[in-house]
Order: sequence, then structure tokens, then C-alpha cells
Amino acid sequence: MASTDTQPRIDFLEEPMRLYIDGAFVQTDEGLPSLNPATGVQLAEAPLASAREVDAAVVAADRAFGEWRFTPPTQRAKLLWRLADLLEAAKDEFATIEVLDNGKPMWEAQLVDIALTIELLRYYGGWTTKIDGKVLPNSIPGMFTVAKREPVGVVAAITPWNFPLLEVAYKLGPALAAGCTIVIKPSELAPLSTLRLMQLVDEAGFPPGVINVVIGGPEVGASLVRHPGVQKVAFTGQTATGKEIMRTAVDGLKRVTLELGGKSPNIVFADANLEAAAAGAFGGIFFNQGQACVAGSRLFVEAPVAGELTDRVAAQAKEIRLGSGLDPETQMGPLISSNHRARVKGYVDQAQEQGAEVAAGGHEATVAGLEGGFFLEPTVLAGMRNDMQAAQEEIFGPVLAVIPWETEEELLALANGVDYGLASGIWTADTSKALRIADRLDAGTVWINTYGMFDVAVPFGGRKHSGFGKELGEEALDPYLHSKSVWVDLTSAVPTGGQGISR
Ligand code: NAD
Repeated sequence: MASTDTQPRIDFLEEPMRLYIDGAFVQTDEGLPSLNPATGVQLAEAPLASAREVDAAVVAADRAFGEWRFTPPTQRAKLLWRLADLLEAAKDEFATIEVLDNGKPMWEAQLVDIALTIELLRYYGGWTTKIDGKVLPNSIPGMFTVAKREPVGVVAAITPWNFPLLEVAYKLGPALAAGCTIVIKPSELAPLSTLRLMQLVDEAGFPPGVINVVIGGPEVGASLVRHPGVQKVAFTGQTATGKEIMRTAVDGLKRVTLELGGKSPNIVFADANLEAAAAGAFGGIFFNQGQACVAGSRLFVEAPVAGELTDRVAAQAKEIRLGSGLDPETQMGPLISSNHRARVKGYVDQAQEQGAEVAAGGHEATVAGLEGGFFLEPTVLAGMRNDMQAAQEEIFGPVLAVIPWETEEELLALANGVDYGLASGIWTADTSKALRIADRLDAGTVWINTYGMFDVAVPFGGRKHSGFGKELGEEALDPYLHSKSVWVDLTSAVPTGGQGISR
């Protein structure tokens, strides 16, 4: 297999990379190499923030909050829409940066990462003018009470590398719409699109300090979470990191939302359209190289069709064309890093030692012309049991575990029998059965006869060790708002001195 990786010239990648703090581009003393996973070659040097720069970013966001929260919603909307317009005008460049920094195929970057980010900014621009309060009934004559909703303050957004820009947008959109200001720390493994976005933020005319970016690894993230100026932490990443962040946030009693890992069941009944189910199982696990929180990594197939479905998915997996995301023929790119590939491969080896059979893939792959890339064959494991580590833990790679089942009770015990509760899929011709099963799945999302659908207006989030708090939709605004009860005495200008207290 050969693939081309002729890198188009992108001016931004030729310039020195800088943080964005208080409306200024800030050069740092130290840098962090960002690799192209398709080649293993350094793409750029990202600016590494020190504690001083983290502090400057939070202080700037805190100062900016004083004005941003009272900026007319229509004005905030216009800025978000302007940012969306600028991004749309540069969408091909952004998709290319995402492909180079993350490794994903171009079509994926264009249709999912960048297209959804643009829609999301527009959607939350629309919400700025629709965040209302509530008139509250009370039992005290002459008293009028109202609950206002107000922004919580400075948000720390800490994001992963699998959808670099989109994960930032999931937090940026609702935070700004609610009237919060933000300090973003994207993943150190794929920070470039976020840094490029700051050039558009600057051009759009956001007031200094409203949006800030610092780059670094766990230490920079932790110092942001600890900072007393931060009121809310919006985190997406691994479950273990989420728990660590929650512990760090306890002292400051910060609001935390956690979008964490998954081990989602994709369930196929014998009466399903098997062609559609096979395509859903295939896309459910191999999309984004399996590096998706919602990856349908456990395929539960009703016993009579388990062999046929495994064969169908394995046959498709064997045909996948691996290569550079820049190559239009590429269906699947490399994994994010050499370490991550080794970790994913370790799960495959271990499952085999425990009795799993490899129906497709199972090896590291070499793509001609891209010998330094972190490629892994798309892998289908048959003969899996639900108690194996590879069926219980999030692998976050292109590895599918196929597990047959016989009764609905057995299926539900297996499907819910993991720590995670993020997403799930059901394939059947019987809608009543699908809805009955959907009621009993412990997951934040259930897709019926489809898999992996997202829309800006439909909330998404997990349960159990997949975290809490929703992103997307109206619900995503809630964590960025708190309410204030306001009392007005309508009867007299003379203070009542607490006569109304009924306790
Ligand atoms: P990760 O937890 O390693 O890192 C995520 C972010 O947290 C990075 O920016 C990292 O630098 C930072 N970080 C690491 N340790 C920290 C600490 N102690 N304090 C503060 N910040 C810290 O996750 P990852 O490998 O980048 O991303 C993959 C994970 O993200 C997978 O588990 C995946 O399921 C999950 N994910 C979940 C969703 C969702 O919506 N539920 C979406 C995408 C990805």
C-alpha cells in the first residue's frame, strides 16, 4: 500500500507559534514539538506556557468578564457569527491543519470537525439572546420574585486531541453565549488548529481577555484548574484524568463538567437489516481511527447471525485503505502517536493470549512512503468474552470486540456490564423492541438503526464513569449559568425588615 503526503504550504505553520493572552500573541521561552502522525516528523513547535502565562491568562479573563457579562447579547451574537464566517472562509486551511496535526482523513476533518464547529458557533450565537429567567410564585402578599440567570465567570476549557478544534468549540460556544470568559488549554498533542483560531478571534474583534489560549500538558492543565480565578472547569478526556481534575477542583469548590471515556455497546438483533448493521458496526468503530469517545467498540450480535456479521465487518476492515489524510483515497489515517499505537496493540495481543481470534487486522501497518507513520491495521476480534480487559477498558483505537448473545436479559447484563455509560446502538426491524431495550441501556445516547449521529441542537454526554454534564443543545448552557433570586416589594418604599420570613 502506498500513500502520498505532499504537504500544501500553510503560512501559519511557517510562522513562530504564540499563545493568545489578553488580546495579544505571546511568545514563550519554551516550545513543544507537534508531530505529523502520518510521517512521525515534527510539524511545528507549539508554545509551552509557564505558570506565569497561565496566571496572566486567567487574570485577563477575569478582568474581561466584568464587561463581557454585560455586553449586549446581540453584540455577543455578532462576534460569534463573525468568527463562524471567518472560519468558514478559511475552512480548507483549517481542515488541512487538522489532518496534519491529528492524522484523520481530509473528508472527516472537512465534514465533521470543521463543518460542525462552524455550525456550532452560529448556533450558540443564536442562544445569546434567548437565555431567559423565570418569574417565581411566592406566598408573601406584595412581593414579586424573579430568578435571573447569570454567567458563572472564568471557564477553564481542557480538551483532548481526537477532535482538536471541535472539542474546543463545544465549550467556547456555550461559554461565550452565556456571558462567561474562557481560558482554553487544548491537548498538547494537537494544539495547532486552536492556535490558528486565535488569529480569527483577534480579527473578529473579541474584546481582549474574553478568549485566551495556553498550551501545555498535565501540569499546565492542573495549574489552570487550581487557579483561584477559575470558576468552572469544562473537561473532555480520559476518565482517570477527569477524576484527577475533580480532586484538584475540590478545594476551590469549582463547578466541573466531565466528558470522559466510553466502551459503547453496538447491539445487533437477528431481524436487523444485516447490510446496514454491518455498515453501522464498521463506521461505529473505525471512524476517526477508532479514536472516538463514542466508538462502538463492543459489538453484541444475536447468536444466529454472529458469524455472518463478523465476516461482513471483517471483510470490510481488510479492504480499508490506510494512508495520509491528505490523500483523497485514504479511508483511515494513523493513530495519534507511537506510544498510543503501542498501547492499542497491547490490548490486541493480550486479548489473543486470552483466547480471542483475530478476524481482521491485528498488526502494526507500514504504508509505503510513510514509513515513520503510526499506522495500525483495523482489527476485528472474535471469540471475545465481556470480562476480558479488551472488552472492559477503553482502547481508543480501531479494535472491535464481537460478542454473541442469546437472550435479552443476557444482552442487557453484558451491554450495561462496564464502568462506562456514554453511547449505544441498536439494530433491529422491530421498533417496539428497540425502544424497550433503549429504556434499559445505561447510556447518555442511544442510536437506533444508525450510529454516531451528532447535531448541534441535540445534547450529548455520559453517565457512570463516562462523566456528567451535557454538551450541545440548550442543555449545554446550564453549567455556564447560575441563578440569582431577586425580590421586589411592590407595596411600599419602607423596608419591611424581614416580616416576610416565615421560618
Ligand atoms: P487526556 O485525559 O489524556 O487529556 C485530555 C486533556 O487533559 C489534555 O489537554 C491534557 O493535557 C489534559 N490533562 C492531562 N492530565 C491533566 C491533569 N492532571 N490536570 C489537568 N489537565 C490534564 O485525554 P486524551 O488522551 O487527550 O483524550 C482521549 C480521551 O478523551 C478518551 O478517553 C476519550 O474517550 C475522551 N473523550 C471523551 C469525549 C466525550 O465527549 N465524552 C469526547 C472526546 C474524547
